[in-house]
Amino acid sequence: MRQRVKTTFALVVAIALALGVARVDAFETLTSRLAAMGSKSDFMSTFTDLALSVERRVDGAIEKVWSEILERFHPFVIAGPLTFAYHELVYFGAWMPWLAMDRFEYFQKWKIQREKRPSAEMVMKCVVKLLKSHVFVQLPMQMMFYFVAPYFGFSLALEALPKSRDFLWQIPVFFVIEDFYFYWIHRFLHHKRVYKYVHKVHHEHKYPFGIAAEYAHPVETFFLGIGTLLGPLFFAKHMVTLWVWLFFRLLETVEDHSGYDVPWNPTNLIPFWGGAVHHDFHHKTFEGPYSSVFTWCDWMFGTDKEFRAHQAKLRGGKESWAYPAVFRGAPNDQALAETRATTKKLD
Ligand SMILES: [Zn+2]
Ligand SMILES: [Zn+2]
Repeated sequence: MRQRVKTTFALVVAIALALGVARVDAFETLTSRLAAMGSKSDFMSTFTDLALSVERRVDGAIEKVWSEILERFHPFVIAGPLTFAYHELVYFGAWMPWLAMDRFEYFQKWKIQREKRPSAEMVMKCVVKLLKSHVFVQLPMQMMFYFVAPYFGFSLALEALPKSRDFLWQIPVFFVIEDFYFYWIHRFLHHKRVYKYVHKVHHEHKYPFGIAAEYAHPVETFFLGIGTLLGPLFFAKHMVTLWVWLFFRLLETVEDHSGYDVPWNPTNLIPFWGGAVHHDFHHKTFEGPYSSVFTWCDWMFGTDKEFRAHQAKLRGGKESWAYPAVFRGAPNDQALAETRATTKKLD
């Protein structure tokens, strides 16, 4: 039974990827279907009009901003230093909400390893190391991307701007590719013969905080960075798509290392999203799970047994049928102890 479910999952992922390869614009199909249905129903017609008007506005705004960027900067500057500045802004910006939570006791009930807090020295060391790695590894990679990208048909031209509807299928497909690539490279980096040379650096943080995400050995930054570029290189043709993708990818990796599992996090609504609770366990134990984004690779390849056992313990020994999605918003040990104490009092 379990094997059959796993096979079904593998098939679903393969089909999703195949759709990407065939460049099937799922959104276009959906909107045309909705438009056809819209002729039969006022509600659908209003919905379609609204979706198309939002799309027009977003596309118009992207075109305006991009034409200004093209007027002001040389393509090499856009692909190199400007993309670098954009990355810094999004990466450190994504950390701000989590950093703010550290300052308020109210949010501590959602901290996954509640008793552990990084010292100021730890955070400073991380910032300095990150800046060095960003300048000496990531920036050259971005410069290199400028020369490699044309071979993949990549463009910066205004006429080649993508439609915002493309992002609706591209971003999920990029996340699936990134996740699968990351899983295997990360698992390899944990091999006992390799671990101490490269990945040990990233695991200096047993209770991670947002920006610990990119705190890693340069070799790791380089190889895992390739995974981030794979999706856009194969399924996109424009720098704007890369920027949009980078935005979501950075939010995701900073969230993974945030150390918080807040119940009102919008990512809780995404099926199979691993989130902080998934990756924090890996930093705490050095065992699986190894995935960056979703929970299905660890589930299919059997590297999440300890994680699942731990989560099942937190839930009174029960594992829900809906795994892997069910563990989002799981209670931490401290919160659970408090809940038990309150329940006892009420009894
Ligand atoms: Zn690891
Ligand atoms: Zn990590």
